Amino acid sequence: ERALAATREVGESDLENRLRPARLAEFIGQPRVREQLDLVLQGALRRGRPPDHVLLSGPPGLGKTSLAMIIGTELGSAVRITSGPALERAGDLAAMLSNLVEGDVLFIDEIHRMARPAEEMLYLAMEDFRVDIIVGKGPGATSIPLDVAPFTLVGATTRAGSLTGPLRDRFGFTGHMEFYDPEDLELVVARSAEILEVDLRPDGGREIAHRSRGTPRIANRLLRRVRDYAEVRADGSVTREVARAALAVYDVDELGLDRLDRAVLGALVRSFGGGPVGVSTLAVAVGEEPGTVEEVCEPYLVRAGMLARTPRGRVATPAAWRHLGEKPPDRQNP
Ligand code: ADP
Repeated sequence: ERALAATREVGESDLENRLRPARLAEFIGQPRVREQLDLVLQGALRRGRPPDHVLLSGPPGLGKTSLAMIIGTELGSAVRITSGPALERAGDLAAMLSNLVEGDVLFIDEIHRMARPAEEMLYLAMEDFRVDIIVGKGPGATSIPLDVAPFTLVGATTRAGSLTGPLRDRFGFTGHMEFYDPEDLELVVARSAEILEVDLRPDGGREIAHRSRGTPRIANRLLRRVRDYAEVRADGSVTREVARAALAVYDVDELGLDRLDRAVLGALVRSFGGGPVGVSTLAVAVGEEPGTVEEVCEPYLVRAGMLARTPRGRVATPAAWRHLGEKPPDRQNP
């Protein structure tokens, strides 16, 4: 939850829903996942059968939930939504499963956080469309088999690596979501500006896109912060100058790194001499949960070429030292 809270503000979800692309053709970027998913869905529609279960993995804010909704729309099916942490007991999942009607899409966000008994129930439901409900306790307990309507599970996870093997194996298709190119984020920002009726100039959109950490959710959020600035301190149009001034107020730097990203790099470089240092130690140094550092900060720092994950721990790259205005040590800068 901390990881999500770090990227999702309270009250943001209504806006987020308004900005969600509704169809696969409207979904910007991720060409590989889009093409693969399109084939899965078209194939299923031709056969008139629910498609294989789909796993979507990648950092927060890249469009996993949006794709789950799109899968429902493309199939003409209802989407039932739940999340791993909400499925604490097997009974919670049994209730969801028994309410499904044929062809429904069941979306489980943060599926890696599901409790073990629920996960074991899910195996059977995914494979055979049935569950065994255990009634009673001890030697007198009996299991009552229950049919589940054929459905498609869409699971989303920020940590594909922490899914158990048996669960992973039961997905027919896994879509690996990647960080977006600035060009794609420019399209995301332009589309959102139109929906929100923001007077966005092309150079303003480009500036926001370059500072969004490769993440559409962040691009949309920065657009709204820049719009505030444009309306309060300028004439309402979002130009490059307005975007730069606004993002300086919100502590977003030239590379799009935010305060926490810079705190992690700063600790790594200044307190630990550039590493290697373990992720838990690093998390304590910046006062965050290891999960947040690992799932929210690190993927982008790695992608930006600032941080490397080695078997001995996290290491700052020479680019990280330079970004912080420090001279990289000689051993790292041959
Ligand atoms: P995740 O489930 O991976 O955390 P979401 O699907 O909730 O991400 O996406 C967050 C927001 O980013 C959505 O509200 C949507 O407005 C925007 N978004 C994500 N992907 C795209 C995309 N490909 N095109 C346009 N907007 C997108």
